[in-house]
Amino acid sequence: MTVARSVVASLDGVQEKVPLAPFTTFGIGGPARYLAVAQNGAAVERLATWASEQQLPWLVLGRGSNVLVDDGGYEGLVIIFRRREAQARSIEVNDLRDGSLRVRADAGTSLAGLARWCSERGLSGLEWACGIPGTLGGAVTGNAGAYGSSMSTVVHTVEVLSDGGRRCSYPSRELGFSYRHSVTLAKGEGLAVLDVALDLKRGDPESSAAKMAWYSQQRRNSQPKGRSAGCVFRNPAGGSAGALIEACGLKGFAIGDAVISDVHANFILNRGQARAEEVLRLMNTARRRVFERFGVRLESEIRFIGPLSLEVL
Ligand SMILES: Cc1cc2nc3c(=O)[nH]c(=O)nc-3n(C[C@H](O)[C@H](O)[C@H](O)COP(=O)(O)OP(=O)(O)OC[C@H]3O[C@@H](n4cnc5c(N)ncnc54)[C@H](O)[C@@H]3O)c2cc1C
Repeated sequence: MTVARSVVASLDGVQEKVPLAPFTTFGIGGPARYLAVAQNGAAVERLATWASEQQLPWLVLGRGSNVLVDDGGYEGLVIIFRRREAQARSIEVNDLRDGSLRVRADAGTSLAGLARWCSERGLSGLEWACGIPGTLGGAVTGNAGAYGSSMSTVVHTVEVLSDGGRRCSYPSRELGFSYRHSVTLAKGEGLAVLDVALDLKRGDPESSAAKMAWYSQQRRNSQPKGRSAGCVFRNPAGGSAGALIEACGLKGFAIGDAVISDVHANFILNRGQARAEEVLRLMNTARRRVFERFGVRLESEIRFIGPLSLEVL
């Protein structure tokens, strides 16, 4: 798409040249040419339509917990679609004949908030998501998962808005889910997940709470505190990216303010004013060392926003 040189019309709530760092858990990234916060799907649709009319590229961010934003920022409209907490008025629950329960929520809903909301009401199947800091939309886009479960095991349908304003409802089988990936939703720009329907089971609030407490404890024991985007690399088949990076002696290795965690080597932390370029150099170093030593090509789990890319190995 050609980027319009001057945007002729403005729209309420759209701000210009807004730094993206505060909208990410890494705390890294230059400005969006335009940025707006959307509270619901209708607002996302209105903003996406405006961007298309202005011939601006656009993308949606949720909690910004799985992205590395370029230091030069993003030359288009960034729509922040997130709610702080799971809110009853944006969640709908229906009993199905087979005994399962269909839960429908805005894609901007907090995933961990929704997991808690469901467990308190005896809806089971999302407990594993209690420590994942993103939104439902971000989770379905990257097939987020933990402890052997993932979004692909619970998603029923996803309502998507494409560039050009077309709305489409995709059943789970058409989303092309694989490990931390969805073929259909991988596009990044010009695509918004508006809402998601999940199939859960009737459960017991007490046992759900116990599971969530156990998962949270596991996380506290194995993951570093600090600003990060979670695991930076996908685990290779049958292995652990963190273990391979650790075996290369890279725990604690730093470039500028970006450092490979000494708690979990697949986490990169921003310990101050880290820049995207420093994180990328660390990722390239880790990939190169792992490839030289083990012949394994690590692939990025985090999404790059702007013109960032890994070295070709
Ligand atoms: C401490 C920590 C722990 C983590 N643990 C895990 C874990 O256990 N398992 C795991 O899978 N991940 C984990 N993550 C990564 C991250 O939290 C998840 O991938 C999360 O689902 C991303 O959601 P988000 O809303 O933050 O997405 P964002 O980072 O905002 O966006 C990620 C991608 O999805 C797109 N996107 C977001 N929302 C939408 C939407 N509504 N429509 C269209 N596209 C959208 C963005 O354009 C971007 O390409 C962790 C991260 C941190 C910081």
